[in-house]
Amino acid sequence: MSQQFAVFGTPISHSLSPQIHSAFGRQAGIDLRYIAIEAGPGDFAAKLQAFADAGGVGANVTLPLKALAAELAVTQSERAKHMGVANTLARTADGWHADNTDGIGLVRDLTDRHRLDLRERRTLIVGAGGGARGIAPALLDAGIGELFIVNRTPERADALADMLGQPSRVHARYLGDVATFGEFDLIINATSATRGGTLAPLPRSLVGRRTAAVDLSYGEAAIPFMAWARATNCHDAIDGLGMLVEQAAESFKLWHGVRPDTNAVFAALSGHSAGLVTAD
Ligand code: NDP
Repeated sequence: MSQQFAVFGTPISHSLSPQIHSAFGRQAGIDLRYIAIEAGPGDFAAKLQAFADAGGVGANVTLPLKALAAELAVTQSERAKHMGVANTLARTADGWHADNTDGIGLVRDLTDRHRLDLRERRTLIVGAGGGARGIAPALLDAGIGELFIVNRTPERADALADMLGQPSRVHARYLGDVATFGEFDLIINATSATRGGTLAPLPRSLVGRRTAAVDLSYGEAAIPFMAWARATNCHDAIDGLGMLVEQAAESFKLWHGVRPDTNAVFAALSGHSAGLVTAD
């Protein structure tokens, strides 16, 4: 019988994860079944348990469930424990083990696929939700310079900066003050703003000679930020599709012990991503 996997979240119907993991499975010769399960904070625990009872051995978790997934797990990787958010669950004899592959997925996409040298890049993250919490430690480990974090709800930016524990390098600031920050080499949109509202355009003064603008979203959801990046002459404008494929490859490795070749899957999806709103 096929091994059973699933991605949980809401909205989930347009998730590309089933497609990505099925392609990885074919590539590795592993017989697996991977489905999308709609679940919110109120019913996630019950649906995850039902999935385990039915033989589920691995799961991905997307918004708004990443903190809950880390809480429900009996064991956690260092990175999932540190930031309190998980995107990957692996079934063990005692329950679920939680990990977070978002950060390594983003760094791999930026450094391997897009050939960005992240070292010493003065960085701005807009957003302080589960995605921002997943990527910030990996960016710091990759050697970025100072990190500024702004968020619509400022307390969450403060909390994220506190968790990172590097006060001389990481600064939480008010979103409304963003015009006073100077230029950045890396600007990351880690908000879900285009799903249910709009992110006010950022000032052009943030953009310097080598600024890379990166959106964690992809498809239609990434259009406004990618348009801003082009209009302000950012050196690079990169959406979240590559990160999605890379974080999936890291989850796949955790479950199956092999890291798939992501380039073919990324190329296939790049041709089809326009119009898809949901990211993981
Ligand atoms: P969360 O729900 O945890 O956080 C959402 C964030 O967006 C919060 O910082 C929230 O601010 C902010 N936000 C929402 N609406 C607005 C708005 N109208 N104006 C300004 N800020 C807003 O989501 P995630 O962090 O998990 O995901 C964020 C995005 O990143 C999503 O689009 C997700 O799909 C994508 N993502 C992509 C991945 C990939 O592999 N490509 C991986 C992870 C995430 P506040 O705190 O004030 O509510």
